[in-house]
Amino acid sequence: MPPGIQGTRVTVVGLGRSGLAAARLLVRQGAAVTVTDRRPSAELAVPMAALKDGPVRYCVGGHPTEAFQDTEMIVMSPGIAVESVEAVQAVKARGVPVIGELELAFRFMTSPVVAITGTNGKSTTTALIGGILKQAGRRVFVGGNLGRPLCEAVLEPVEWDWIVAEVSSFQLETIQTFRPRVAVLLNVTPNHLDRYRSMDDYRAAKMRLFENQTAEDAAVINADDPVVLRHTGSVRARRIFFSRTPRPEAGVYLAADAVVADGVTARAARVEIIRREEIPLPGSHNLENVLAASAAGLLCGCPADQIREAVRGFKGLAHRLEPVRKRNGVLYVNDSKATTVVALAKALESFSEPIVLIAGGRNKGAEFNLLRDLVSHRVKTAVLIGEARPTLRAAWNGAAPLIEAGSLEEAVRVAAQTAAAGDIVLLAPACASFDMFRDFEDRGNRFKEIVNGL
Ligand code: ADP
Repeated sequence: MPPGIQGTRVTVVGLGRSGLAAARLLVRQGAAVTVTDRRPSAELAVPMAALKDGPVRYCVGGHPTEAFQDTEMIVMSPGIAVESVEAVQAVKARGVPVIGELELAFRFMTSPVVAITGTNGKSTTTALIGGILKQAGRRVFVGGNLGRPLCEAVLEPVEWDWIVAEVSSFQLETIQTFRPRVAVLLNVTPNHLDRYRSMDDYRAAKMRLFENQTAEDAAVINADDPVVLRHTGSVRARRIFFSRTPRPEAGVYLAADAVVADGVTARAARVEIIRREEIPLPGSHNLENVLAASAAGLLCGCPADQIREAVRGFKGLAHRLEPVRKRNGVLYVNDSKATTVVALAKALESFSEPIVLIAGGRNKGAEFNLLRDLVSHRVKTAVLIGEARPTLRAAWNGAAPLIEAGSLEEAVRVAAQTAAAGDIVLLAPACASFDMFRDFEDRGNRFKEIVNGL
Protein backbone atom coordinates (compact mmCIF):
# COMPACT_ATOMS: atom_id res chain seq x y z
CA MET A 1 0.00 0.00 0.00
CA PRO A 2 1.16 3.55 -0.66
CA PRO A 3 2.57 5.72 2.09
CA GLY A 4 -0.18 7.83 3.68
CA ILE A 5 -0.82 10.83 1.54
CA GLN A 6 -3.51 12.21 3.89
CA GLY A 7 -2.80 15.86 4.60
CA THR A 8 0.23 16.00 2.26
CA ARG A 9 0.47 19.22 0.26
CA VAL A 10 0.53 18.20 -3.41
CA THR A 11 0.67 20.43 -6.49
CA VAL A 12 -0.78 19.07 -9.72
CA VAL A 13 0.70 20.70 -12.83
CA GLY A 14 -1.72 20.73 -15.77
CA LEU A 15 -5.46 20.13 -15.62
CA GLY A 16 -5.95 18.04 -18.75
CA ARG A 17 -7.44 14.57 -18.55
CA SER A 18 -4.50 13.07 -16.66
CA GLY A 19 -4.14 16.04 -14.30
CA LEU A 20 -7.84 16.00 -13.52
CA ALA A 21 -7.79 12.26 -12.75
CA ALA A 22 -4.70 12.76 -10.57
CA ALA A 23 -6.32 15.64 -8.68
CA ARG A 24 -9.50 13.61 -8.12
CA LEU A 25 -7.50 10.70 -6.75
CA LEU A 26 -5.46 12.97 -4.48
CA VAL A 27 -8.60 14.65 -3.13
CA ARG A 28 -10.13 11.24 -2.49
CA GLN A 29 -7.00 10.23 -0.56
CA GLY A 30 -7.21 13.35 1.60
CA ALA A 31 -4.24 15.27 0.21
CA ALA A 32 -4.20 19.07 0.30
CA VAL A 33 -4.34 19.70 -3.45
CA THR A 34 -3.22 22.74 -5.42
CA VAL A 35 -3.81 22.78 -9.17
CA THR A 36 -1.91 24.98 -11.59
CA ASP A 37 -2.56 25.32 -15.32
CA ARG A 38 -1.35 27.71 -18.00
CA ARG A 39 -4.94 28.36 -19.11
CA PRO A 40 -7.14 30.91 -17.30
CA SER A 41 -10.07 29.68 -15.20
CA ALA A 42 -12.59 30.61 -17.93
CA GLU A 43 -11.11 27.79 -20.07
CA LEU A 44 -11.05 25.32 -17.19
CA ALA A 45 -14.73 25.33 -16.26
CA VAL A 46 -15.32 21.68 -17.13
CA PRO A 47 -12.44 20.09 -15.15
CA MET A 48 -12.98 22.53 -12.27
CA ALA A 49 -16.62 21.47 -12.07
CA ALA A 50 -15.48 17.83 -11.86
CA LEU A 51 -13.42 18.80 -8.79
CA LYS A 52 -16.10 20.86 -7.06
CA ASP A 53 -16.53 18.43 -4.15
CA GLY A 54 -12.94 18.54 -2.98
CA PRO A 55 -11.15 21.41 -1.32
CA VAL A 56 -8.79 22.38 -4.15
CA ARG A 57 -6.67 25.52 -4.36
CA TYR A 58 -6.26 26.94 -7.89
CA CYS A 59 -3.31 28.91 -9.28
CA VAL A 60 -4.21 29.20 -12.96
CA GLY A 61 -3.43 31.38 -15.95
CA GLY A 62 0.25 30.39 -15.54
CA HIS A 63 2.44 28.51 -13.09
CA PRO A 64 3.12 31.15 -10.39
CA THR A 65 5.59 30.37 -7.60
CA GLU A 66 2.83 30.46 -4.97
CA ALA A 67 1.44 27.27 -6.55
CA PHE A 68 4.55 25.53 -5.24
CA GLN A 69 4.93 27.25 -1.88
CA ASP A 70 5.38 24.65 0.90
CA THR A 71 4.51 21.90 -1.55
CA GLU A 72 5.64 18.43 -0.51
CA MET A 73 5.07 16.67 -3.82
CA ILE A 74 4.49 17.64 -7.45
CA VAL A 75 2.46 15.60 -9.92
CA MET A 76 3.20 16.48 -13.56
CA SER A 77 0.89 15.90 -16.49
CA PRO A 78 2.67 13.88 -19.20
CA GLY A 79 2.27 16.65 -21.79
CA ILE A 80 4.37 19.08 -19.74
CA ALA A 81 8.14 18.63 -19.50
CA VAL A 82 9.65 19.20 -16.06
CA GLU A 83 12.28 21.43 -17.68
CA SER A 84 9.64 23.69 -19.20
CA VAL A 85 8.29 25.01 -15.88
CA GLU A 86 10.90 27.07 -14.04
CA ALA A 87 9.12 26.93 -10.69
CA VAL A 88 9.04 23.12 -10.82
CA GLN A 89 12.77 23.02 -11.51
CA ALA A 90 13.43 25.21 -8.48
CA VAL A 91 11.28 23.09 -6.15
CA LYS A 92 12.82 19.90 -7.51
CA ALA A 93 16.27 21.29 -6.74
CA ARG A 94 15.12 21.64 -3.11
CA GLY A 95 14.54 17.88 -3.03
CA VAL A 96 10.76 17.82 -3.40
CA PRO A 97 9.67 14.67 -5.27
CA VAL A 98 8.34 15.28 -8.79
CA ILE A 99 6.30 12.37 -10.13
CA GLY A 100 3.85 11.83 -12.98
CA GLU A 101 0.25 10.69 -13.09
CA LEU A 102 1.41 7.16 -13.98
CA GLU A 103 3.56 6.88 -10.84
CA LEU A 104 0.80 8.34 -8.67
CA ALA A 105 -1.76 5.86 -9.99
CA PHE A 106 0.65 2.95 -9.58
CA ARG A 107 1.18 3.72 -5.88
CA PHE A 108 -2.51 3.04 -5.24
CA MET A 109 -2.97 0.08 -7.57
CA THR A 110 -3.69 -3.34 -6.13
CA SER A 111 -3.88 -5.18 -9.49
CA PRO A 112 -0.99 -6.41 -11.64
CA VAL A 113 0.01 -4.20 -14.58
CA VAL A 114 0.91 -4.99 -18.18
CA ALA A 115 2.73 -1.96 -19.60
CA ILE A 116 3.46 -1.35 -23.27
CA THR A 117 5.92 1.14 -24.69
CA GLY A 118 7.84 1.71 -27.91
CA THR A 119 8.09 4.35 -30.60
CA ASN A 120 5.35 2.84 -32.77
CA GLY A 121 2.55 0.33 -32.21
CA LYS A 122 1.81 1.09 -28.56
CA SER A 123 -1.89 1.78 -28.97
CA THR A 124 -2.53 -1.13 -31.31
CA THR A 125 -0.67 -3.57 -29.06
CA THR A 126 -2.34 -2.20 -25.93
CA ALA A 127 -5.77 -2.65 -27.50
CA LEU A 128 -4.82 -6.17 -28.66
CA ILE A 129 -3.69 -7.20 -25.17
CA GLY A 130 -6.82 -5.70 -23.63
CA GLY A 131 -8.90 -7.61 -26.18
CA ILE A 132 -7.09 -10.88 -25.40
CA LEU A 133 -7.64 -10.54 -21.65
CA LYS A 134 -11.32 -9.68 -22.15
CA GLN A 135 -11.73 -12.63 -24.50
CA ALA A 136 -10.26 -14.84 -21.76
CA GLY A 137 -12.88 -13.52 -19.33
CA ARG A 138 -10.66 -11.25 -17.22
CA ARG A 139 -11.80 -7.95 -15.70
CA VAL A 140 -9.43 -5.52 -17.35
CA PHE A 141 -8.82 -1.77 -17.37
CA VAL A 142 -7.21 -0.47 -20.57
CA GLY A 143 -5.77 3.04 -20.56
CA GLY A 144 -2.76 5.22 -19.97
CA ASN A 145 -1.17 7.35 -22.67
CA LEU A 146 -4.15 6.55 -24.86
CA GLY A 147 -7.71 6.66 -23.61
CA ARG A 148 -8.49 6.77 -19.92
CA PRO A 149 -5.86 8.02 -17.45
CA LEU A 150 -4.62 5.31 -15.09
CA CYS A 151 -5.78 7.15 -11.96
CA GLU A 152 -9.30 6.33 -13.15
CA ALA A 153 -8.49 2.63 -12.73
CA VAL A 154 -7.93 3.37 -9.04
CA LEU A 155 -10.93 5.68 -8.71
CA GLU A 156 -13.32 3.04 -10.01
CA PRO A 157 -14.62 0.65 -7.34
CA VAL A 158 -13.58 -2.44 -9.30
CA GLU A 159 -11.07 -5.18 -8.43
CA TRP A 160 -9.34 -5.42 -11.83
CA ASP A 161 -7.67 -8.71 -12.74
CA TRP A 162 -5.25 -6.76 -14.91
CA ILE A 163 -4.49 -3.15 -15.73
CA VAL A 164 -3.19 -2.75 -19.28
CA ALA A 165 -1.28 0.50 -19.61
CA GLU A 166 0.08 2.19 -22.72
CA VAL A 167 3.00 4.28 -21.51
CA SER A 168 4.97 6.97 -23.32
CA SER A 169 8.59 7.97 -22.81
CA PHE A 170 7.30 11.22 -21.25
CA GLN A 171 5.38 9.28 -18.60
CA LEU A 172 8.41 7.11 -17.87
CA GLU A 173 10.51 10.20 -17.16
CA THR A 174 8.60 10.78 -13.94
CA ILE A 175 8.32 7.30 -12.43
CA GLN A 176 9.96 6.18 -9.18
CA THR A 177 8.47 2.84 -8.13
CA PHE A 178 6.39 1.91 -11.21
CA ARG A 179 6.87 -1.82 -11.72
CA PRO A 180 4.84 -3.66 -14.35
CA ARG A 181 4.38 -7.42 -13.89
CA VAL A 182 4.67 -7.72 -17.69
CA ALA A 183 6.58 -5.03 -19.60
CA VAL A 184 6.48 -4.91 -23.41
CA LEU A 185 9.06 -2.93 -25.41
CA LEU A 186 8.07 -2.88 -29.07
CA ASN A 187 10.79 -0.82 -30.76
CA VAL A 188 12.95 2.26 -30.34
CA THR A 189 13.50 4.43 -33.40
CA PRO A 190 14.14 8.18 -33.64
CA ASN A 191 11.21 10.30 -32.42
CA HIS A 192 10.50 13.42 -30.38
CA LEU A 193 13.99 14.72 -31.09
CA ASP A 194 12.49 18.17 -30.65
CA ARG A 195 11.98 17.36 -26.93
CA TYR A 196 14.94 15.11 -26.20
CA ARG A 197 18.52 16.31 -26.44
CA SER A 198 19.60 13.10 -28.15
CA MET A 199 18.51 9.65 -29.20
CA ASP A 200 20.36 8.30 -26.12
CA ASP A 201 18.16 10.37 -23.79
CA TYR A 202 15.01 9.20 -25.57
CA ARG A 203 16.10 5.56 -25.42
CA ALA A 204 17.08 5.87 -21.77
CA ALA A 205 13.56 7.13 -20.95
CA LYS A 206 12.03 4.10 -22.69
CA MET A 207 14.34 1.68 -20.85
CA ARG A 208 13.05 2.94 -17.51
CA LEU A 209 10.08 0.62 -18.13
CA PHE A 210 12.20 -2.22 -16.72
CA GLU A 211 14.05 -0.43 -13.91
CA ASN A 212 11.95 -1.64 -10.96
CA GLN A 213 11.23 -5.12 -12.26
CA THR A 214 12.57 -8.22 -10.50
CA ALA A 215 13.04 -11.85 -11.52
CA GLU A 216 9.35 -12.48 -10.74
CA ASP A 217 8.32 -10.15 -13.58
CA ALA A 218 8.51 -10.60 -17.34
CA ALA A 219 9.98 -8.42 -20.08
CA VAL A 220 8.69 -8.91 -23.63
CA ILE A 221 11.44 -7.82 -26.00
CA ASN A 222 11.57 -7.28 -29.76
CA ALA A 223 14.55 -9.35 -30.92
CA ASP A 224 14.29 -7.85 -34.43
CA ASP A 225 15.00 -4.33 -33.18
CA PRO A 226 18.77 -3.97 -32.76
CA VAL A 227 18.48 -1.02 -30.36
CA VAL A 228 16.02 -2.86 -28.11
CA LEU A 229 18.10 -6.04 -28.16
CA ARG A 230 21.35 -4.23 -27.39
CA HIS A 231 20.01 -2.33 -24.40
CA THR A 232 17.95 -4.98 -22.64
CA GLY A 233 20.79 -7.36 -21.77
CA SER A 234 20.82 -6.32 -18.12
CA VAL A 235 17.07 -6.39 -17.53
CA ARG A 236 16.33 -8.26 -14.26
CA ALA A 237 12.94 -9.61 -15.34
CA ARG A 238 12.57 -12.92 -17.15
CA ARG A 239 13.13 -12.08 -20.82
CA ILE A 240 10.65 -13.33 -23.40
CA PHE A 241 11.52 -12.47 -26.99
CA PHE A 242 9.43 -11.98 -30.07
CA SER A 243 10.67 -12.09 -33.64
CA ARG A 244 9.63 -12.59 -37.24
CA THR A 245 12.08 -15.50 -37.40
CA PRO A 246 12.49 -18.41 -34.93
CA ARG A 247 15.07 -18.01 -32.15
CA PRO A 248 16.47 -20.40 -29.53
CA GLU A 249 15.32 -18.39 -26.49
CA ALA A 250 11.87 -18.55 -24.90
CA GLY A 251 9.56 -16.41 -26.97
CA VAL A 252 6.87 -15.98 -29.59
CA TYR A 253 8.01 -16.34 -33.20
CA LEU A 254 6.78 -16.55 -36.73
CA ALA A 255 7.68 -20.07 -37.85
CA ALA A 256 6.41 -21.65 -41.07
CA ASP A 257 3.80 -18.90 -41.44
CA ALA A 258 2.32 -19.39 -37.99
CA VAL A 259 2.70 -17.52 -34.73
CA VAL A 260 4.25 -20.04 -32.36
CA ALA A 261 5.07 -19.72 -28.65
CA ASP A 262 8.12 -21.60 -27.46
CA GLY A 263 8.86 -22.08 -23.76
CA VAL A 264 6.84 -19.04 -22.64
CA THR A 265 4.66 -20.88 -20.13
CA ALA A 266 5.50 -23.90 -18.04
CA ARG A 267 2.35 -25.71 -19.16
CA ALA A 268 3.03 -25.98 -22.89
CA ALA A 269 6.54 -26.01 -24.27
CA ARG A 270 5.49 -25.21 -27.82
CA VAL A 271 2.08 -24.07 -28.95
CA GLU A 272 0.73 -22.63 -32.20
CA ILE A 273 -1.34 -19.51 -31.60
CA ILE A 274 -2.57 -18.38 -34.99
CA ARG A 275 -1.72 -18.81 -38.65
CA ARG A 276 -0.40 -15.70 -40.33
CA GLU A 277 -3.19 -15.55 -42.93
CA GLU A 278 -5.77 -15.44 -40.13
CA ILE A 279 -4.44 -12.11 -38.83
CA PRO A 280 -6.83 -9.44 -40.10
CA LEU A 281 -4.47 -6.45 -39.68
CA PRO A 282 -2.29 -5.46 -42.66
CA GLY A 283 1.48 -5.11 -42.71
CA SER A 284 4.48 -6.75 -41.13
CA HIS A 285 4.44 -4.15 -38.34
CA ASN A 286 1.06 -5.43 -37.22
CA LEU A 287 2.46 -8.95 -37.25
CA GLU A 288 5.04 -7.67 -34.74
CA ASN A 289 2.24 -6.21 -32.61
CA VAL A 290 0.44 -9.57 -32.68
CA LEU A 291 3.63 -11.44 -31.69
CA ALA A 292 4.15 -9.08 -28.74
CA ALA A 293 0.50 -9.18 -27.67
CA SER A 294 0.43 -12.99 -27.85
CA ALA A 295 3.47 -13.20 -25.59
CA ALA A 296 1.86 -10.83 -23.09
CA GLY A 297 -1.42 -12.77 -23.25
CA LEU A 298 0.34 -16.05 -22.46
CA LEU A 299 2.27 -14.42 -19.61
CA CYS A 300 -1.05 -13.21 -18.16
CA GLY A 301 -2.30 -16.80 -18.19
CA CYS A 302 -4.57 -16.64 -21.24
CA PRO A 303 -4.97 -19.87 -23.22
CA ALA A 304 -3.67 -19.94 -26.81
CA ASP A 305 -7.12 -20.54 -28.33
CA GLN A 306 -8.53 -17.42 -26.64
CA ILE A 307 -5.59 -15.39 -27.93
CA ARG A 308 -6.32 -16.65 -31.43
CA GLU A 309 -10.01 -15.70 -31.14
CA ALA A 310 -9.19 -12.21 -29.91
CA VAL A 311 -6.62 -11.56 -32.67
CA ARG A 312 -8.98 -12.88 -35.37
CA GLY A 313 -11.74 -10.55 -34.18
CA PHE A 314 -9.56 -7.46 -33.80
CA LYS A 315 -10.70 -4.68 -36.11
CA GLY A 316 -7.75 -2.32 -35.67
CA LEU A 317 -7.97 1.21 -34.33
CA ALA A 318 -9.20 4.32 -36.09
CA HIS A 319 -6.48 6.47 -37.75
CA ARG A 320 -4.06 3.52 -38.07
CA LEU A 321 -4.14 2.34 -41.70
CA GLU A 322 -7.91 2.73 -41.48
CA PRO A 323 -9.74 2.09 -44.78
CA VAL A 324 -12.14 4.98 -45.34
CA ARG A 325 -13.82 4.51 -48.68
CA LYS A 326 -13.42 3.11 -52.17
CA ARG A 327 -14.29 5.63 -54.86
CA ASN A 328 -13.82 5.13 -58.61
CA GLY A 329 -11.64 2.13 -57.83
CA VAL A 330 -9.36 4.17 -55.52
CA LEU A 331 -9.05 3.13 -51.88
CA TYR A 332 -8.62 6.00 -49.39
CA VAL A 333 -6.68 5.09 -46.25
CA ASN A 334 -6.40 7.17 -43.08
CA ASP A 335 -3.10 6.67 -41.25
CA SER A 336 -3.14 10.03 -39.46
CA LYS A 337 -1.43 8.37 -36.47
CA ALA A 338 1.66 7.80 -38.64
CA THR A 339 3.54 10.72 -37.13
CA THR A 340 7.05 9.26 -37.54
CA VAL A 341 9.28 8.33 -40.46
CA VAL A 342 9.20 4.67 -39.41
CA ALA A 343 5.40 4.61 -39.26
CA LEU A 344 5.26 6.12 -42.77
CA ALA A 345 7.73 3.48 -43.97
CA LYS A 346 5.54 0.73 -42.50
CA ALA A 347 2.48 2.20 -44.17
CA LEU A 348 4.20 2.33 -47.58
CA GLU A 349 5.35 -1.27 -47.15
CA SER A 350 1.84 -2.45 -46.30
CA PHE A 351 0.49 -2.02 -49.84
CA SER A 352 1.56 -3.31 -53.23
CA GLU A 353 -0.68 -0.85 -55.15
CA PRO A 354 0.66 2.52 -56.41
CA ILE A 355 0.28 5.13 -53.67
CA VAL A 356 -0.69 8.77 -53.86
CA LEU A 357 0.69 9.95 -50.55
CA ILE A 358 -0.44 12.92 -48.47
CA ALA A 359 2.32 13.80 -46.00
CA GLY A 360 3.53 16.74 -43.93
CA GLY A 361 2.57 18.78 -40.90
CA ARG A 362 4.81 19.87 -38.05
CA ASN A 363 8.28 18.39 -38.30
CA LYS A 364 9.47 16.74 -35.06
CA GLY A 365 13.11 16.74 -36.17
CA ALA A 366 12.72 13.72 -38.46
CA GLU A 367 15.13 12.65 -41.19
CA PHE A 368 12.82 12.35 -44.17
CA ASN A 369 15.67 11.61 -46.60
CA LEU A 370 15.88 8.10 -45.04
CA LEU A 371 12.72 7.36 -47.03
CA ARG A 372 13.97 8.48 -50.45
CA ASP A 373 14.32 4.92 -51.77
CA LEU A 374 10.99 3.72 -50.48
CA VAL A 375 9.23 6.83 -51.78
CA SER A 376 10.76 6.39 -55.21
CA HIS A 377 9.58 2.75 -55.34
CA ARG A 378 6.11 3.05 -53.87
CA VAL A 379 4.87 6.59 -54.27
CA LYS A 380 3.28 7.68 -57.53
CA THR A 381 2.84 11.28 -56.37
CA ALA A 382 3.33 12.93 -52.98
CA VAL A 383 1.07 15.80 -51.97
CA LEU A 384 2.77 17.87 -49.29
CA ILE A 385 0.97 19.83 -46.57
CA GLY A 386 1.83 21.95 -43.55
CA GLU A 387 4.97 23.52 -42.15
CA ALA A 388 7.24 20.65 -43.20
CA ARG A 389 6.65 21.25 -46.95
CA PRO A 390 10.07 22.79 -47.73
CA THR A 391 11.90 20.12 -45.70
CA LEU A 392 9.98 17.31 -47.38
CA ARG A 393 10.52 18.84 -50.80
CA ALA A 394 14.27 19.03 -50.21
CA ALA A 395 14.38 15.45 -48.87
CA TRP A 396 12.31 13.80 -51.63
CA ASN A 397 13.14 16.01 -54.59
CA GLY A 398 13.52 13.70 -57.61
CA ALA A 399 12.30 10.60 -55.75
CA ALA A 400 8.68 11.18 -56.81
CA PRO A 401 6.59 13.98 -58.32
CA LEU A 402 5.86 16.45 -55.49
CA ILE A 403 2.85 18.77 -55.32
CA GLU A 404 2.28 21.27 -52.51
CA ALA A 405 -1.19 21.95 -51.14
CA GLY A 406 -2.31 24.79 -48.88
CA SER A 407 -4.86 22.76 -46.94
CA LEU A 408 -5.97 19.19 -46.35
CA GLU A 409 -9.05 19.83 -48.53
CA GLU A 410 -6.85 20.90 -51.41
CA ALA A 411 -4.52 17.95 -50.82
CA VAL A 412 -7.37 15.43 -51.01
CA ARG A 413 -8.75 17.12 -54.14
CA VAL A 414 -5.35 16.99 -55.85
CA ALA A 415 -4.80 13.39 -54.73
CA ALA A 416 -8.21 12.34 -56.06
CA GLN A 417 -7.42 13.92 -59.44
CA THR A 418 -4.01 12.24 -59.57
CA ALA A 419 -5.09 8.74 -58.54
CA ALA A 420 -6.27 6.16 -61.09
CA ALA A 421 -8.40 3.07 -60.47
CA GLY A 422 -6.35 0.53 -58.49
CA ASP A 423 -4.32 3.20 -56.67
CA ILE A 424 -4.37 4.03 -52.98
CA VAL A 425 -4.66 7.53 -51.57
CA LEU A 426 -2.86 7.37 -48.25
CA LEU A 427 -2.77 10.02 -45.54
CA ALA A 428 0.41 9.14 -43.61
CA PRO A 429 1.95 12.46 -42.58
CA ALA A 430 5.21 11.39 -40.82
CA CYS A 431 4.73 14.64 -38.88
CA ALA A 432 2.81 15.96 -35.91
CA SER A 433 -0.53 17.63 -36.62
CA PHE A 434 -0.35 20.67 -34.37
CA ASP A 435 0.39 23.20 -37.12
CA MET A 436 -3.05 22.70 -38.69
CA PHE A 437 -5.12 20.53 -36.32
CA ARG A 438 -5.88 19.95 -32.65
CA ASP A 439 -4.29 16.49 -32.75
CA PHE A 440 -3.90 13.44 -34.98
CA GLU A 441 -7.52 12.42 -34.37
CA ASP A 442 -8.80 15.80 -35.49
CA ARG A 443 -6.62 15.49 -38.62
CA GLY A 444 -7.85 11.95 -39.35
CA ASN A 445 -11.49 12.87 -38.78
CA ARG A 446 -11.17 15.86 -41.12
CA PHE A 447 -9.60 13.61 -43.74
CA LYS A 448 -12.48 11.14 -43.47
CA GLU A 449 -15.06 13.93 -43.74
CA ILE A 450 -13.40 15.35 -46.84
CA VAL A 451 -13.03 11.91 -48.46
CA ASN A 452 -16.61 10.96 -47.69
CA GLY A 453 -17.74 14.28 -49.17
CA LEU A 454 -15.92 13.77 -52.51
P1 ADP B 1 1.60 4.42 -31.02
O1 ADP B 1 0.54 4.38 -29.98
O2 ADP B 1 2.92 3.92 -30.52
O3 ADP B 1 1.72 5.72 -31.74
P2 ADP B 1 -0.16 3.05 -32.91
O4 ADP B 1 -0.59 1.66 -32.69
O5 ADP B 1 -1.13 4.13 -32.62
O6 ADP B 1 1.19 3.30 -32.10
O7 ADP B 1 0.36 3.19 -34.41
C1 ADP B 1 0.98 4.40 -34.81
C2 ADP B 1 1.47 4.33 -36.23
O8 ADP B 1 2.56 3.42 -36.34
C3 ADP B 1 0.44 3.85 -37.22
O9 ADP B 1 0.60 4.64 -38.35
C4 ADP B 1 0.78 2.42 -37.48
O10 ADP B 1 0.43 2.03 -38.80
C5 ADP B 1 2.27 2.34 -37.25
N1 ADP B 1 2.67 1.13 -36.51
C6 ADP B 1 1.88 0.34 -35.76
N2 ADP B 1 2.59 -0.67 -35.20
C7 ADP B 1 3.87 -0.50 -35.58
C8 ADP B 1 5.09 -1.21 -35.33
N3 ADP B 1 5.13 -2.31 -34.55
N4 ADP B 1 6.22 -0.74 -35.91
C9 ADP B 1 6.20 0.35 -36.68
N5 ADP B 1 5.09 1.06 -36.98
C10 ADP B 1 3.93 0.65 -36.43
